[in-house]
Amino acid sequence: MNLIIIEDSKIVLTQLLRMIAVHPLIKLVGMASDEEAAVEIIIAKQPDVILLDLALSPGSGIKVLERIRQQGCSAKVVVLTNNHNPMFAEKCNALGVSGFYDKSEDVQTCMDQLLTWLPATTDNQAERLISLKSAELNGSHEEEFFDNITRLAQTITDMPIVCISLLENDQQWFLSRNKISFAQAQDFTSFCTQALLRNELLEIPDTTTDVRFNHNPFVMGEPHIRFYAGVPIVLPSGEGLGTLNVLNTRPDSLTDEQKDGLKTLAHSAMGEIELRRRLIELEKEIEKRKLAEAQIQRLATRDPLTNLPNRTAYKDRLSLQLQHAARQKTTLAVMFVDLDRFKLINDTLGHSIGDEALIIASNRLSKVLRESDTVARLGGDEFALIVPDVSNAHEALLIANKVAEAVSATFTVAGQQLNVGASIGIALYPDHADTTDELLRHADLAMYQSKEDGGNKATMFSSDLDQMASAAMALENDLQHAISHHEFELYFQPQQNIHTQELIGLEALVRWQHPRLGLIQPKQFIPLAEQRGLIQKIGTHVLNNVLMQMHFWDTEGFSIPKIALNVSALELRTGYDLQIESTLKLHNISPKRLEIEITESALTSDSQEAIQVLTKLRSMGISIALDDFGVGYSSLGQLRRMPIDALKIDKSFTDDIHKNEDEEAIVNAVITMAKALGLRTVAEGTENLAQIETLKKLGCDCVQGFYLSQPLNANEIVEWLKQRV
Ligand code: C2E
Ligand code: CA
Ligand code: CA
Repeated sequence: MNLIIIEDSKIVLTQLLRMIAVHPLIKLVGMASDEEAAVEIIIAKQPDVILLDLALSPGSGIKVLERIRQQGCSAKVVVLTNNHNPMFAEKCNALGVSGFYDKSEDVQTCMDQLLTWLPATTDNQAERLISLKSAELNGSHEEEFFDNITRLAQTITDMPIVCISLLENDQQWFLSRNKISFAQAQDFTSFCTQALLRNELLEIPDTTTDVRFNHNPFVMGEPHIRFYAGVPIVLPSGEGLGTLNVLNTRPDSLTDEQKDGLKTLAHSAMGEIELRRRLIELEKEIEKRKLAEAQIQRLATRDPLTNLPNRTAYKDRLSLQLQHAARQKTTLAVMFVDLDRFKLINDTLGHSIGDEALIIASNRLSKVLRESDTVARLGGDEFALIVPDVSNAHEALLIANKVAEAVSATFTVAGQQLNVGASIGIALYPDHADTTDELLRHADLAMYQSKEDGGNKATMFSSDLDQMASAAMALENDLQHAISHHEFELYFQPQQNIHTQELIGLEALVRWQHPRLGLIQPKQFIPLAEQRGLIQKIGTHVLNNVLMQMHFWDTEGFSIPKIALNVSALELRTGYDLQIESTLKLHNISPKRLEIEITESALTSDSQEAIQVLTKLRSMGISIALDDFGVGYSSLGQLRRMPIDALKIDKSFTDDIHKNEDEEAIVNAVITMAKALGLRTVAEGTENLAQIETLKKLGCDCVQGFYLSQPLNANEIVEWLKQRV
C-alpha cells in the first residue's frame, strides 16, 4: 500500500513514520508540508492512501483535496487535524474523505485504520501458500484434529463461534467450522489479517466501536459479530498461516487464563500443521528420489538417442540368455552390426542427419527381428543383436542377411537419399564360445571380415579369423619395437625403359625381418602401421635408409639414376616437404633422383594438405608417380589436375594384356591419355616377355616386374647390376 503524508508538524510526522516503519506492506512514497508541493507529489505518485493535515503553510489541506480530486485522484484520504469544525467535516466528506482523526490523540487509531486497508495478505504470502499447499490443508474437508482444537477453544472461552482460518491469496480457508458456517469468508478476512499482522493475540471487545471493523458486513449484517479475539498460528520459521478465532454476537472480553488457553491451542494447531507439512515433504522427497533413481537406472541401461538397450544392458541380457540357452540346450546367435560408410554420412551431411540415420537403422533392426530377439546400440554406428534359439549356422546366416537387407534399403533424410549398408558378424553359442565376452569378440572379428570383404554382408565366425586376429595383435605389439631393433630391411626392384632397356631406377620396398616369424611382407604390416599411427616412423626410417644407401652406392661407384619411395597418404602432412629436403641435403642427393609413389586415395578432393605438400615436392624437382593406377576411382580426366609426373599401371591390368583384347584396349586408352597429359607410364608386375612386347607396342615407357627382377636386397642389387653390364 503506497502512502503519502501531507503534514507540517514535525512531532506528528515522527510519530507516524515510526509506526509505518514496522509495517513492511505500507510504503511511504512521498511527503509534503505545503499545498503546492502536496498537489504535485500526489498527482505524480498516485498513492493508495493520503494522510492529510488541513492546516498547511502555505496553503490549505481542503484546497489540496479539491485540486487532487479535480485532477482525478481517487486515493483514500484520511484527515489528521486539530480542527473540529463541523463545516470542514462536511466539506471533507463531500470530497470523499474516509476518516477524521485527532492529531493529538488518535494517531494510533489512524494507523489501525490504515492496517485494515491492507490487502488480506502478509509479506510472506508466497511462503505461506507453499506451507498450506504442502500441508495439504486446503479446507476442503473437516479435520478431526482441528475440530478437537476448536471444541476445546469453545470449552475454554464459552464463545458461540470458534474457528481456525487459514489465509491463502485473497481466500480464506476454514479448517474447522464450529456452530456457524460463514457464507462470505471474505468479510472475515480483515479480522484474521489484523491478528496476523500484529503477530499476537488481537482482542476487539466491541466491533461496533472500532473504526476498523464497524463497517464490516459481518458486523453490520449476519452474523452480527460484536466480539472478536484471534491468535495467530505462526510456524517456527516465522510464517504466519492463519488464526484461531473466537467470536461472539455481543460485546465480550477474555480473561488472561482464557487468552493463555487460546495461545496454547493455536500453538498445538501450528505443531500439527508443521508435522503434516514435514511428513508430506518427506513423502514427496521419497517420491522424487524414487523417480530420480528410475531415471538413473534408465540412463544407465538405455541409449538416449535410439532408446535401445545400451552396452551394459546388452551384456546383462546376453548373460541371462546364455544361462537359458545352456539349460534348454539351444543355440544362440550373437550378431554385431556395423553400418557401412556411416562416418562419411556423419562427416559430410552433419550430425543431425547422422543421428536420424541411426534412428532409422535402429527402427529397421527392431522391425526385422522377432519380439524375443534383442537389439542394442553399443555406441557410434555399432549395434548388437541377440537371436536366441536358432537351429543352426545356416539359419543364423539367413537371419543376418535379412537384417543386412532391411538396414541397407534406401531412406530419405532431410531430402537426401541415403544408402547405408550393414556389415554383420555372427558368433554362435555354444559352437564358437560360451561366455559373453568371447562371443562378442568373435562376432566383432567376423564383422571386420565383412567390412574387409567390401561391407553389406554377413560373415560367420571361424577359428581362422581368430588366428588371423591374434597374429595381427602380436604383430602390432612387435611393430612398436621393430624400428629401434633395426628389423626393417630394404629391398629394391629395378625399373627399365621398355624401348632402350636402360635402367631408369629402383623402387624401394620395405620388408620386416621378424625375429620369430621371419620375413614379413609389407601388405601384412603397412596397413596395421597406418591404423596404429606408426606409419610416419616407418616412413622416416625408409627415407633415411634409402638416401643413405644411395649415397653409399654413389661413393662405391654404382650410381643409381633414381629411387622411388612408397609414401602413405598419412605421411603427406605439412612439413613433410621440409623433412625430405633436409634428408636429401644430409645425404647429398639431388631431388631429381628421388621419386615419390602415392596412391589415388592421397589425392581425393578432401586432401588439400597432401596436394599442397606434393606440389612443393615437385617444385623442388622431385617426381611424383601415381601408384596402382586403375584400381582406385579417379578417372583419366581427373589426372589433369593432379600434381603428378608418372602413372604406374596396376598389375591387374597387365596380367592378361597379351591374351585379352579387352584388357589391351583399356591399357591402350590409359597410355594414350597419359601421353596426352605428358605423364610417363610404368607397367607394374610384368612377369613375361609377351606382356612386355604388348606394352611396347602400346607405347608404354617403362616396365617393372619379376621378368626383369624380383625385389632384391642391397647386396643382391649390386650383383644384379654387375651382371647386366
Ligand atoms: P606396390 O607399391 O604396388 O609395390 C609393388 C608390389 O608388387 C611389391 O610388393 C612387389 O614385390 C610386387 N611385385 C613387383 N613385381 C611383381 C611381379 O611381377 N609379380 C608379382 N606378383 N608381384 C610383383 P611388396 O614389396 O610386397 O609391397 C607391397 C606394397 O606395400 C607396395 O605395393 C606398397 O604399396 C607397400 N609398400 C612397400 N614398401 C613400402 C614403404 O616403404 N612405405 C609404404 N608406405 N608402403 C610400402
Ligand atoms: Ca609402389
Ligand atoms: Ca603398385
